[in-house]
Amino acid sequence: MTTVLTPASPLTAADRCDRCGAQAYLRVVLASGGELLFCAHHGRKFEPELKKIAVEIQDESGRLGGTAATATDDER
Ligand SMILES: [Zn+2]
Repeated sequence: MTTVLTPASPLTAADRCDRCGAQAYLRVVLASGGELLFCAHHGRKFEPELKKIAVEIQDESGRLGGTAATATDDER
């Protein structure tokens, strides 16, 4: 079972990718109770595998596009 949640506790600059040490944008909660952090790059790369083992994936990679989801473009 995999659920993509709205972040309860946002990832911060202090959260680092377990693979490369870049800022983490994905938090993966494992069925075992463990937790993994990935940058957007590695989050995407391992996503198919992660979906098999995760009970929860918190994906904040949308924030990478700056504030894309907010209004600025519409205001022009
Ligand atoms: Zn990484």
